Amino acid sequence: MSTWVAVPEGSGFGIDNLPYGIFAPPDAPARVGIRIGDQVLDLAAVLDDTVFAAATLNPFMAQGPRRWADVRAQVTDLLTDECHRERLEPALWPLPSVTLALPFAVADYVDYYSSLQHASNVGRMFRPDEEPLKPNWRHLPVGYHGRSGTVVVSGTPVMRPHGQTKAPDATAPSFGPTRRLDIEAEVGFVVGVASRMGDPIAVDAVAEHVFGVVLCNDWSARDIQAWEYVPLGPCLGKSFATSISAWVVPLAALQAARVPPPVQDPTPLPYLQGAEPWGLNLALEVQLNGTVVSRPPFAEMYWTPAQQLAHMTVNGASVRAGDLYASGTVSGAERDQRGSLLELTWNGAEPLTLSDGSTRTFLEDGDTVSIIATAPTANGGRIRLGDVTGTIAPATPPTL
Ligand code: CA
Repeated sequence: MSTWVAVPEGSGFGIDNLPYGIFAPPDAPARVGIRIGDQVLDLAAVLDDTVFAAATLNPFMAQGPRRWADVRAQVTDLLTDECHRERLEPALWPLPSVTLALPFAVADYVDYYSSLQHASNVGRMFRPDEEPLKPNWRHLPVGYHGRSGTVVVSGTPVMRPHGQTKAPDATAPSFGPTRRLDIEAEVGFVVGVASRMGDPIAVDAVAEHVFGVVLCNDWSARDIQAWEYVPLGPCLGKSFATSISAWVVPLAALQAARVPPPVQDPTPLPYLQGAEPWGLNLALEVQLNGTVVSRPPFAEMYWTPAQQLAHMTVNGASVRAGDLYASGTVSGAERDQRGSLLELTWNGAEPLTLSDGSTRTFLEDGDTVSIIATAPTANGGRIRLGDVTGTIAPATPPTL
């Protein structure tokens, strides 16, 4: 299948991808668009449904999987059959001419901790005298509730946060800008269809609720986190900003990426056992100021997005359109597969060297981090998830 739209070779945004986002043409209000190559198709202009005139994907996502499949089929037809070209061309906007916005209003945000390698590495560094994994880790997807109001779209500057920290040898905590600002390369899952309170979502029902996938950077202030996290988990060390990509790749585009997850031992409880494989063979890449510093393999994640959704609702908690849940930092077994600077530099002990010769332990002001990812397609090609990029702005002292 090929499109009449000019798609640059290897762009990863061909006809088999078709991710959704929110864009504003010049001097016009934001609305729903689909990316094809380096252009955006204005869905409000070509499909007869007011949901596409909204400045958020939430109303469309709430329409459910049958409607998502219909729209995907319609758009695929429009972009492949030459007969539509004349009508559609005025509704195609070059990417540099538009402004991209946060693709959906984030309802609740949960962040998991589902990479065995990441959890083991962090355990070794934060609790060197204990077993790296806590006794619960292999029995349930450990997670925490994050701050949905500070989820920002790719490209938004991230200000270095202030906070309370305490060095191990200090007698009292002190206050100031974080000195250990870090990244976490993650994959986020976006809920479209709500569930009712009291009705858990079965592990094999993930595709009835989850609309699509974004890349996430869970910015983390390690010094703030290390002092605050006991015993209730991360809070201000992460709540200052979480970046997501501007494009939501629908699950339908990722069918060829589905793989069985790693063997789970011990066998999880029945509510976490599914018949369908929901591992995803996504290849991530982390770039720091243009230097590739890591290539985390998502296929190695221990807990799947289906298990995470089942776990999130097994107590009767409901989900809503716009709920976002992230995988946790994606880290593989090799050093150059780790998804955080904490792990890549082993808590600052082993600095990275960038292509300009400079070295990094944690992030400096002005540093730009990009996370990109690709997924295999049925015909042997690769599609690309929306990039997530952010640049660190200097701390502005709060008025105290
Ligand atoms: Ca995280």
